[in-house]
Amino acid sequence: MRTRPSTTWPGFYYDGRTALRRPVTITVMATGLRMATEEDTFLWWPYEQLHLAQGALPGEQIRLERGPEPSETLVVSDEAFLSAIRAGAPAAARHLLPAFRRRHWAGLVLLAGAGAVIVGLAIYAWGIPALADLAAEQMPPAWEERLGQAALESLAPPNRRCADPRRDAALSEIVARLAAAGPGSAYTFRITVVDEPAVNAFATPGGYLIIHLGLLQATQTPAEMAGVLAHEMQHVRHRHSTRALFREISMRALLSLLVGDAGGLGQALETAGTLGELRYRRQDEETADRDGMELLQAARVDPNGMVSFLRRLSRGESGAPRSQAYLSTHPLTTERIKHLERMAAGARYTPIPLLQGVPWREIGMRCTAAP
Ligand SMILES: [Zn+2]
Repeated sequence: MRTRPSTTWPGFYYDGRTALRRPVTITVMATGLRMATEEDTFLWWPYEQLHLAQGALPGEQIRLERGPEPSETLVVSDEAFLSAIRAGAPAAARHLLPAFRRRHWAGLVLLAGAGAVIVGLAIYAWGIPALADLAAEQMPPAWEERLGQAALESLAPPNRRCADPRRDAALSEIVARLAAAGPGSAYTFRITVVDEPAVNAFATPGGYLIIHLGLLQATQTPAEMAGVLAHEMQHVRHRHSTRALFREISMRALLSLLVGDAGGLGQALETAGTLGELRYRRQDEETADRDGMELLQAARVDPNGMVSFLRRLSRGESGAPRSQAYLSTHPLTTERIKHLERMAAGARYTPIPLLQGVPWREIGMRCTAAP
């Protein structure tokens, strides 16, 4: 018989018949535990007769039991004792393996718990937006148009709309020139001017472009207006507003399901009207800038208009409080402006003026004749 003594461990021995606690010094042997009492008597516990009653979880006192109830018990406080058995007596480790496995299993339960939380967070942070993006991507343009119409009704209620045939014609001419220069699009772009002093513009799904009167007044040339419109048209073409709306709706729907609020779903569907508060993602802004600038150049519009308007906005020159609205839905960074400046500087063509012969200030900067 191979006897390979390891280090010794202090513990307490209970005989199972009395409450007497006897201090022992334990030696881990290859086939069992050898316990020396204070009276210098020895107890021999073959591993195959033992089972681990406690100690499978980290931090627990180790309790080994032997024989039928009321069994003899050995209590060891040092957690390393089990590792010593595993190292010094592989056969014992195999015998006590269920106990070790339990220890691992407990760890797995903890891991699984943490995993569920992480998966939950991932679904919340990534999964729902990803599903929303997928849904927005698959949506037929005709449906987007209906969604956009609902948003339009809310963002630009008929009694707030500014009707002015001369201005409408001018804005439509700019959009038509841009649309004709771009790649074929499934969307029809329509502009609605709203009697709001805030500098702001929205693109609803399906091609409805909403311009606040404050933004129109903040532009100094048709090329600046074209810059804003080209950017908004790219938000439509890339379905940024559709995605933003879907993300918001699905998130609210999910939250209402989680808190068991059945009415929340209805509220979520009303979110179409809050499109004006949705922020585009930074990469959406960059895409709309880049492709908007390309569209301007394809249409031979002066690319500096887009740059000068944004530069003025960022400096707060158009009235800082009024321009906050546009900046909150279209986050503006110095990188954005720098990038646009670089693109504009790279343009190699002579711009063809927009609305030739019509002074920009005369197209109607006031809201006239709301129907
Ligand atoms: Zn934008």
